Amino acid sequence: MTSVPDTGKEGHGVSERPDCDSAGTGCAGGAAADDRESLMMELTRLVQRVVRESSWWEKRGIDCAILAAAFLSLPAAFLLLGSSQGLLVVLGVLVMATAHAVITIKGTHLASHGALSESQAWAEFWAVFFIEVCGSFTARVGVHTHIKMHHAHTNILGLGDSSTWKIPFLPRSVYLFLAPLGVPIITPLVALSQLRGHSLSLALRTVLMVSLGLYSQFWLLIQVSGFQSPARALLCMLLCRALYSLPYIHVNIFQHIGLPMFSPTQRPKRIHQMTHGVLNLPRNPLLDWTFGHSLISCHVEHHLFPFLSDNMCLKVKPVVSRYLREKKLPYQEDSYLSRLQLFFNKYQELMVFAPPITELVGVQ
Ligand SMILES: [Zn+2]
Repeated sequence: MTSVPDTGKEGHGVSERPDCDSAGTGCAGGAAADDRESLMMELTRLVQRVVRESSWWEKRGIDCAILAAAFLSLPAAFLLLGSSQGLLVVLGVLVMATAHAVITIKGTHLASHGALSESQAWAEFWAVFFIEVCGSFTARVGVHTHIKMHHAHTNILGLGDSSTWKIPFLPRSVYLFLAPLGVPIITPLVALSQLRGHSLSLALRTVLMVSLGLYSQFWLLIQVSGFQSPARALLCMLLCRALYSLPYIHVNIFQHIGLPMFSPTQRPKRIHQMTHGVLNLPRNPLLDWTFGHSLISCHVEHHLFPFLSDNMCLKVKPVVSRYLREKKLPYQEDSYLSRLQLFFNKYQELMVFAPPITELVGVQ
């Protein structure tokens, strides 16, 4: 077997230069290494061409417009929640829950990748706004966990193996269908526990931003929607924030767990790591809007080119999928229900026991 370690650095999207191996041959140390390099470089060139030919609207505009639409729908949601008619209240919950999912899942994900702005300062501002104010989490920890660990070490055991999502002591039905409803409560508590070891100013900023986000929604429910009881306002917040947490947890585990896992000492090349360790779900109008293409039908593209926006991931998808199939590399796809069935039936194996290591014999 020839296993070629990766440097473990986060890929820089379309401008990334594929990693050199450290098996002693070096970047130009042989035909096999050249082949491996050229695969990622060739694909990067194809994707770069699509990106160059795209307008600002395609690169960032469409996703920013979806996020803006989510914010613009909030006044209507608060007013609907104040209605005396049950059906309108239900509609208010649905609108607010959907807007919350767009902002805190699609928005925080794009912001954590710096995909909302080309300016570094604005990218940092949006990360704090989306992750802390809207998402009730720590921007620094969120970015570190997602970019520096999950993306850089996708499916590498002990580093980016998605084990943070595992709660092995929970029975499968509780984990898959009940525990996710606690996400809105667990998230700010985890954020607080992560503040240890960080500077006082960072800890203070996070506490202030998270409180600002939570309190402003509570205040608007009292002032605009006219909730008389604080307990009912809090319950409404919990309901709106928990409505999409079931698919959120599902999507996070479906796309990596159960796929090949690699050893930190024998890392495959990036293109093999991502094509073997990442899976796409089919397009779904609701999840495409709320979670974003990069988390649903373009997860493979997102892991190969993590700085592309959702819309650009969708645009390069035909180029990437065709290229991988032509080169006989995996392009893994499965349906939501099929993954749910798999996780339900093989819960012990996938979510309780340690996953086995895959060695990619013959493909490198
Ligand atoms: Zn990502």
